[in-house]
Amino acid sequence: MPENAQDLYQRSVNALRTPPVADWDTWPFDDNIRPRTLEEPAAEPPRDGEGGVECDGCTKPDADYFWTDDRWRLIAFGPSGLPVVVVLEPRAHYDTPSELPDELAREMGVMLGRVERAVMTVDGIERVHISRYGEGAAHLHWWFMGRPTGLRQLASSFAGIWDDVLPPTPDDVWRDNIAQVAAAMRAGG
Ligand SMILES: [Zn+2]
Repeated sequence: MPENAQDLYQRSVNALRTPPVADWDTWPFDDNIRPRTLEEPAAEPPRDGEGGVECDGCTKPDADYFWTDDRWRLIAFGPSGLPVVVVLEPRAHYDTPSELPDELAREMGVMLGRVERAVMTVDGIERVHISRYGEGAAHLHWWFMGRPTGLRQLASSFAGIWDDVLPPTPDDVWRDNIAQVAAAMRAGG
């Protein structure tokens, strides 16, 4: 029988561990750390656009996106620490990959590869981290984060934190990077 959240909480609240993150090459910080107090389970807050109601992903105009087609749109939110961070959304409102009709789900697989290839055409990108959480907004969205060649510290699960730790990419460099991704998408990825 699976544990419920309360069981997990009770078992864990006084048994939290501190993994040896200070020894991990990718850990972004130098100070000693200790786990936060685990909060008790609580009601889930609504996510943006739940059920397609007042949903940003449904209502934003194509002009907010740097590449679109009949069924998919790509957006970039402005310079951040990593040189390229873009987000892929289906045009129609679906929340989870499992909700997609089969045809769109198949196309999603193709699109994940196509966007990855487009991000890889930006000079100096070694790897593309692809992730989907769905915790903030209910309109399905996939993150693509370009990890620069030679900066192994930025690899894997802390890349999203490094994205906030590094100073923002200069605006003109960032615009060129996004323009390159757009050009590669237009060329067919
Ligand atoms: Zn939506």
